[in-house]
Amino acid sequence: MSNTTLNSKELLRGGQFLVKETNCEDVFTPEDFNDEQIMMRESVKEFVEREIWPNKEEFEKKNYKLTEEIMRKAGELGFLGVAVPEEYDGLGMGFVSTMLVCDYISGATGSIATAFGAHTGIGTMPITLYGTEEQKKKYVPKLATGEWFGAYALTEPGAGSDANSGKTKAVLSEDGKHYSISGQKMWISNAGFANVFIVFARIEDDKNITGFIVENDPENGITFGEEEKKLGIHSSSTRQVFFNDTKVPVENMLSERGNGFKIAMNALNIGRIKLAAASLDAQRRVTDLSVKYANDRVQFNTPIAKFGAIKSKLAEMATSAYAGEAASYRAAKNIEDRINIRLESGSSHAEAELKGVEEYAIECSILKVACSEDVQNCSDEGIQIFGGMGFSADTPMESAWRDARIARIYEGTNEINRMLAVGMLVKKAMKGHVDLLGPATAVGDELTGIPSMDKPDYSELFAEEKEMIGKLKKVFLMTAGSAVQKFGPDLEEHQQLLMASADILIEIYLAESAILRAEKNAKRYGEDTQKEQIAMAKLYLYHAVDTVNQKAKEGIVSFAEGDEQRMMLMGLKRFTKYQNQPNVVQLRNTIAEKLTSENKYCF
Ligand SMILES: Cc1cc2nc3c(=O)[nH]c(=O)nc-3n(C[C@H](O)[C@H](O)[C@H](O)COP(=O)(O)OP(=O)(O)OC[C@H]3O[C@@H](n4cnc5c(N)ncnc54)[C@H](O)[C@@H]3O)c2cc1C
Repeated sequence: MSNTTLNSKELLRGGQFLVKETNCEDVFTPEDFNDEQIMMRESVKEFVEREIWPNKEEFEKKNYKLTEEIMRKAGELGFLGVAVPEEYDGLGMGFVSTMLVCDYISGATGSIATAFGAHTGIGTMPITLYGTEEQKKKYVPKLATGEWFGAYALTEPGAGSDANSGKTKAVLSEDGKHYSISGQKMWISNAGFANVFIVFARIEDDKNITGFIVENDPENGITFGEEEKKLGIHSSSTRQVFFNDTKVPVENMLSERGNGFKIAMNALNIGRIKLAAASLDAQRRVTDLSVKYANDRVQFNTPIAKFGAIKSKLAEMATSAYAGEAASYRAAKNIEDRINIRLESGSSHAEAELKGVEEYAIECSILKVACSEDVQNCSDEGIQIFGGMGFSADTPMESAWRDARIARIYEGTNEINRMLAVGMLVKKAMKGHVDLLGPATAVGDELTGIPSMDKPDYSELFAEEKEMIGKLKKVFLMTAGSAVQKFGPDLEEHQQLLMASADILIEIYLAESAILRAEKNAKRYGEDTQKEQIAMAKLYLYHAVDTVNQKAKEGIVSFAEGDEQRMMLMGLKRFTKYQNQPNVVQLRNTIAEKLTSENKYCF
């Protein structure tokens, strides 16, 4: 199905992965990129190797001008306009292609990843998606080509995660021709060189904020704080922006009054999955460099790559990157298909894209959390493999580790995204968009029933692993389902339970995606050629089972007592039990040997 569009009946709804089985033929994997996508990937890679990677040191010296220069070059090559429709001078490519560019432009330095994401995602998309025709014509072509740069000004000193609580005010002039915006915005990426800001402000005592397009004009009451002194992304410009009676024509209001919070959240949905993509190449590069270093570095007369302790790290790093890629592109293609279905039924580009992404907002949050944490762990292990050199700013591990850290904070912190993922799923179930109740009741019946004594047939590839994924889904339904029944709407007060449920959800999505990718590749290229991919899928699942077990136990014990607790814990044991324990050491060795013999991240 690589490049065809499914109809809406066949296509899983957002969150439905939890209750429906997916065939490997129905998932898109990085191996499914079409010629156009491969060409785009190669040209972005070539750009990164030519323009970004050789300037690595300069990026660490807080050379903001260099970031601006590279962004301009990216604009000349069309990279800033991949997601923009052709009528506004963009390339009008599909969602997968836009993910791919975010992915491959991100590996060399977090500074460019952030500048790129802030400009193309949250800086441009709100206009493309919510702008009037006049607004789009006026601003989008300039932004798509890199003639102008965009920034997104939502956060304030007192309004971070609680984004709708901002104090910035927009007051309508007496003649009704303009709004006057006053307030302080904080942590604004690209502030140092942005020509246009998407600014969120409150009109009168409105419940919700409103979005505005504000041109950067120093004569119009706009001033900036100094560049922030940050842990990482050193050449990404981050400043406070002060608006003091800044006049904005009424025609620059985005969408309608009071719609700003919705715009902000929808922009973030898109931003989140793209941030996941932007964590992937950073992981690949760290893994790749670690493999090369481990092959080169000799201790005890032996390349350290030959030591089991190092092999284990390399295998785990590659595995998390592989699973992250599998899950990110699986979701990206679901979004693209959903967008195409809407376009075919007559929706506008903006409506199709908004609804398409909104449908998979759960997956977007899952991916943001998973990939941002994986890139952090991966770069941490990268430092360890480099030993003392890893701690030195003369090797790329140190900056990779510092740059990775921000991804867990912006685009909604990982805590907020964990809560969102579960909260949105519960809401979807309440609205009847995803039937969790039926499957949850079935799990309840299974718990009180007699376990089947049939000997399962595991002769087919991944038979036991797929059964295990099914069982992990039951764990989620059992744990979260009982919690919903117990607490109802008060569940949101039980944050530790939500966090644990989110972790279960994340592990299921990533593990299932890795298995489906490896299975699809085994079917098309032959199992013999895919033994390392198969090993990675199995290794990922092995860890997922452990995490699910631990998190579910934590949750169950927190709210269930006596017989109910005992029954659920017994169910948990049953649902996390392997018939054939995987030989994890062997799996890791298989993966590491492939990496070290190829001397690169080769998947
Ligand atoms: C380098 C950088 C670039 C940025 N770029 C931009 C940008 O371009 N535009 C923009 O508008 N913003 C930007 N931000 C802001 C960023 O989105 C916020 O920092 C982020 O949303 C978190 O808000 P906060 O910093 O106020 O933290 P807080 O909201 O104060 O959170 C502090 C801690 O409390 C937790 N927490 C908060 N609320 C809850 C809750 N209800 N339940 C449980 N835990 C909670 C958080 O998870 C976090 O761990 C950027 C930030 C940085 C550091």
